[in-house]
Amino acid sequence: MNSTAMRTHMCGELRDAHIGSTVSLCGWVARRREHGEKLAFVDLRDHSGIVQCVVDNDVDVRSEYVIRVTGVVRARPEGTVNANLPTGTVEIGDCQVEVLNIAEPPPFPVDQRADEVDEGIRLRYRYLDIRRERMQKNLRVRALVNSAIRREMESNGFLEVETPLLMPSTPEGAREFLVPSRKEPGSFFALPQSPQLWKQLLMVSGIDRYYQIAKCLRDEDLRADRQYEFMQLDAEMSFVSQDDVLENIGRAVVAAAKAVTGEEPPTIQRITWLEAMNRFGVDKPDMRFGMELVELTHVFSGTEFKAFAGAESIKGIRVDAKVYPDAAASGRNKLDALTDRAKKVGAKGLVWIKVGPDGTVESPIAKFLSEDEIRSLVTAMEAQSGDLVLIVADNWDTTCEVLGTLRNDIGRPPVHEGPYAYVWVTEFPLFVGVDPVSGTPRPGHHPFCHPHPDDISLFDTDPLKVRALAYDLVLNGWELGSGSIRIHEPELQRRVFNLLGISDEEADKRFGFFLQPFRYGAPPHGGFAFGIDRLTAILAGEENIREVIAFPKTQSGADPMTSAPTPVENSHLAELGLRLLPPPATS
Ligand code: ASP
Repeated sequence: MNSTAMRTHMCGELRDAHIGSTVSLCGWVARRREHGEKLAFVDLRDHSGIVQCVVDNDVDVRSEYVIRVTGVVRARPEGTVNANLPTGTVEIGDCQVEVLNIAEPPPFPVDQRADEVDEGIRLRYRYLDIRRERMQKNLRVRALVNSAIRREMESNGFLEVETPLLMPSTPEGAREFLVPSRKEPGSFFALPQSPQLWKQLLMVSGIDRYYQIAKCLRDEDLRADRQYEFMQLDAEMSFVSQDDVLENIGRAVVAAAKAVTGEEPPTIQRITWLEAMNRFGVDKPDMRFGMELVELTHVFSGTEFKAFAGAESIKGIRVDAKVYPDAAASGRNKLDALTDRAKKVGAKGLVWIKVGPDGTVESPIAKFLSEDEIRSLVTAMEAQSGDLVLIVADNWDTTCEVLGTLRNDIGRPPVHEGPYAYVWVTEFPLFVGVDPVSGTPRPGHHPFCHPHPDDISLFDTDPLKVRALAYDLVLNGWELGSGSIRIHEPELQRRVFNLLGISDEEADKRFGFFLQPFRYGAPPHGGFAFGIDRLTAILAGEENIREVIAFPKTQSGADPMTSAPTPVENSHLAELGLRLLPPPATS
């Protein structure tokens, strides 16, 4: 399958079964070593692997030269077998070498040693970096993920539809990239944060089941799991309940995972947002480890200890004795660091209690607690001698956030380390918090999520309590994606916009193109989108999505290879009706 006019085999596929065959191979010189006076070894590399070729010493090839070798596969002499190489029992002898292209010495070794090289250099020479086994593998894992998803979606009746990249600005929450219009100076297209509006319109159009592996763009600070542009499996379905969506998306995720690992992934668990917050303190829980938050408010309901008395919420986490064996004695720095961290996240303070033998405890607050309280606390936390208990008393949001952060800081394994723990988090709140300026609630996700039918009565009285039919998929503590059942009733959509402080006139002006179609018979519908980069990174055993993207941006949002973003000529700006402001003063 891989043979061409120039080669018969791939380097990495040769085994004992090929001994005696004459083969032609093409690739790059990975290494050349002298072998006595007359001969040299050339390790020849293509994407499939490396094979050793024995060539005449006078053949002038250097690292990364592109060559074609024709020779006979033979067994390596006894004692020279390389068990670390899949082709390590054979070599190519009687070689004819044709130099197809010479190469300058590469800026870094094109093998695993490049992992030690500064990432900026790797990205500057990304085309060489991708020649390496790690990147070759990662891009192939990515392609496996894409093809498995496509196959699965299509076998479930989803139709691939492409949607525009140039579109109006939309209210989906992220900062958009804008593209100035040449024909209408002063007007802009936005690049899609996601195909959200298009896919909902396709439901109005009767497409029924849509999917797309779509490029999405968001102008947000970059991190290990975030790039300006990223790929999502984007899907939408008509006449469905939440379960239909979860089932179909779940199938695509399972198919992708199986295609990469060859194994059936574990069942995707399911918890509500409220349960996730109460047990893990975060809405993207990493369920690979315990250390769950424990409710302690009842333990201290009658306490004399001022910092606990009357607190809306008191919660604790138990840190196993093995984690900080000497936390209370020599480990004060550790406890101070944990307290600082807790304060940075928003706590007024952090209480620590080190459990000793026979129900004794050591803690700066031990003297303020009754024996009963200490006993109930140790029981509630299921604490053993040597364990450390960390407690926060505050409002519910803060106790969750602080202890959720500490739990992750202390216990969370790197994201790409097994086992895999997939979980659906359902019933997200429709609104989160209130805008400090306008006083209106802020949307939890985007404003098209359907409120939970049981909560519509709370709309006018207690909007922050309204749950949405909105759900996320989380893998090992990374949010893979989100989705929801959408509002298909124009009147309800208006009510949500109004609650968000968007008047009917403004809604019509900004999203009329989206709202009007809903008057022409919008079916009930819902959908989901998940990040291909994130799923691929975890399946490929990588901690950073840059490792599974051919040409990513650096953390600071630049491309060291092309130097983008770059200034443009004033004439180009003028054509777009733009003039630059002086750069902002740096302090
Ligand atoms: N468009 C949403 C997002 O990109 C996903 C969805 O609701 O389908 O987060």
